[in-house]
Parts: sequence; structure tokens; C-alpha cells
Amino acid sequence: MNKPVMCEYISPNLKEDTINIEWRFSVKCNYDCSYCMPLLHNNNTHVTTFEEMKIGIRNIKKTNPGKKITIALAGGEPFIHPRILDILKMLKKEGVVKIHISTNLSLPADTYIKSFEWLDALTTSFHFENTDTQIFKTKFLKISKSISSDKNIKFLLLLCPGKLSETEEIIKWLNENNIRYSVRKIKPLYRLDNNKINQSIFNGGVVGSKAYPKYTGLGWDTDHNNYYNTKELELLDTFKNSYTNLLGYDTDGNEYKLDWNDLPMQNKNNFMGWECFIGVHSFLIHENGDIYRENCGVGGLIGNIFISAPKIDQPVICPHKWCNCGFGLEAHKRKLK
Ligand code: SF4
Ligand code: SF4
Repeated sequence: MNKPVMCEYISPNLKEDTINIEWRFSVKCNYDCSYCMPLLHNNNTHVTTFEEMKIGIRNIKKTNPGKKITIALAGGEPFIHPRILDILKMLKKEGVVKIHISTNLSLPADTYIKSFEWLDALTTSFHFENTDTQIFKTKFLKISKSISSDKNIKFLLLLCPGKLSETEEIIKWLNENNIRYSVRKIKPLYRLDNNKINQSIFNGGVVGSKAYPKYTGLGWDTDHNNYYNTKELELLDTFKNSYTNLLGYDTDGNEYKLDWNDLPMQNKNNFMGWECFIGVHSFLIHENGDIYRENCGVGGLIGNIFISAPKIDQPVICPHKWCNCGFGLEAHKRKLK
């Protein structure tokens, strides 16, 4: 037996009576960020229709009777789906307790304000390559001021190598305005200061059943640190995310709190050989209905939501040195002797 437990991460947000779905219902995007892989954005792939979403949510309810369902709609850019507001309304009518969307905030502020009739939480991702800082800030403040206190809007800053002073200026603005935020490392095609190409993303790779001949994008097994210069790494070292949504236990059993975004920031996201409970409290649906535990594809294809929803109770052993999966970083994990 593999005991005793040596290290552990537990997310108090993950409850037995709740199933959390990440639904990548469209990978169409109006941006083309260099650090984004084809798995997450292209303009060719099938977009899940309103009718397919309805079949899917009913299959999830059938497999999880009595459970609360939360859904994180992801893309691509979810707000360019032609029926996004109808989908939000339908999901709420089907009893989804919490709907979250990640957006690049490129649509008019009024679209987001309207969506909060059904939406519970919005993460706005700031992409240096495509975003006008002033327009983004103005929209963010307008939406923040219009939503009720039971709704949530979050600022996610994708730290772009080559944009140190602009990053510091945004963090100062966030602090001055008491805005809670998270920061994430990325792997851009170019550093924005000297056009240096990051060759390591051209190595090719396989994600789930999909093979990418040139571009691995999220880059499992690749450390993001070599994309940043010394000064940027110093800033990253001083940075502390505003959320504490994960409990960590070290080898002495001491408890500490952190944001799961901190794991890659602090190089604590190497889970090779750890038990990872991804899939138990959550799973990922692709735009064609295929279901995986997470982006990494560990555990393989586990079904198609247009046919039925899976039920998973066993962990996987992580084969990767760099976890960059959203739900994956949040999932319970433990390292055994
Ligand atoms: S906005 Fe998001 S989904 Fe679109 S290209 Fe950029 S990282 Fe990818
Ligand atoms: S989500 Fe995937 S890559 Fe991340 S720790 Fe779990 S198995 Fe590993």
C-alpha cells in the first residue's frame, strides 16, 4: 500500500454533492494570441449548438441525480457564440447553480452586463498582444459597478514577457482600485520586447486524441520560466495572488493556503507521479461533445456528452512535469511514499 501521505493539495471548493463542468463549447475566437494552442482557438471547428447543449446538460443531470452542477463555459471566446445569452438562460432553467465564463472582454460592456441576468461569475483575461489597456480598464469598471454583490468579476493578468513596466502599472491600478486579481505565466511565440522566438513550442505534441504537428501551446513538461528575463522573474517572485482557494499540506503536515494560480507561479506544479483526482469532481467537455478529465488528456477519452455523462471515482497518476490545467491545478492531489 502506498501510504502514508506525504504532500497534499485540497480544494475546499470541491464538494461531494457538486459536479463541476468545464465546457469548451466553442473554440472560435476573435483574437489569435501567440501562446494559445489550436485546441483552444481556431475558426474551423464545430461550435456546440444550443440544442446540443440542452442534450448535454440533461445527460449530466441524469448521471448526477440530486447533485449541484456548476458550469464554466470556456473557449475560444464564449461571447462570440451566436446564442450565448439563450444558452445561459437555458442552463439556469435546467437548474445549474453556478455559471462562470472566461472572456477576453472584447465585446461591448452592455453584452456582459446583460449576461449577468443568468451568469454568476466572469473572469476577464487581459492579453497584452491584443488588448487596449484603457478600453479594458473602462469596461471592467463599468461592468463591476453594474453587478449585484452576489455576482463576481475577476481580473486575470496573463503576464507577457517583455511587458514589465506595463505589468507593474496594471498591478498598481488593480491595487489602487481594490480589484481582486490573479496572474498567470504564459508562453508567447515572441517576447514583445525583442521579437525573440521561443522555439520550444514548435516541438509538436499530442493532447488527448488530437496530435499537433508543430505547436504544443500549453506545453506540458515545459517550464515557462525561461520565457521571462531576470527582472520579470523578480516581479513574479514578489507577486501574491489575491485568492486563497487551495489548502496545501507539506511533508511535516503543516497547512498553508494559496491560490491554485500560485502553483505554476511558484513552480509547485510538477505532479509527475502524484495521484491526481481530476475527473472525480469535474470534467472537461470539448465542442464536439468528447469528454476528458482535463486538457492534459491523462486518463484518455471518457465519453461523449451527447450520448451520456461519465461517472469517475478513481484518481490518475500524473505523468507530467508541468501542470497548466485550470481544473487540474485545483483538483485534489497527493504524493504517496
Ligand atoms: S483570447 Fe483566449 S482563446 Fe482567444 S486566442 Fe487569446 S488565449 Fe486563445
Ligand atoms: S490535471 Fe493532468 S497534468 Fe495536471 S496534475 Fe492532473 S494529471 Fe497531471
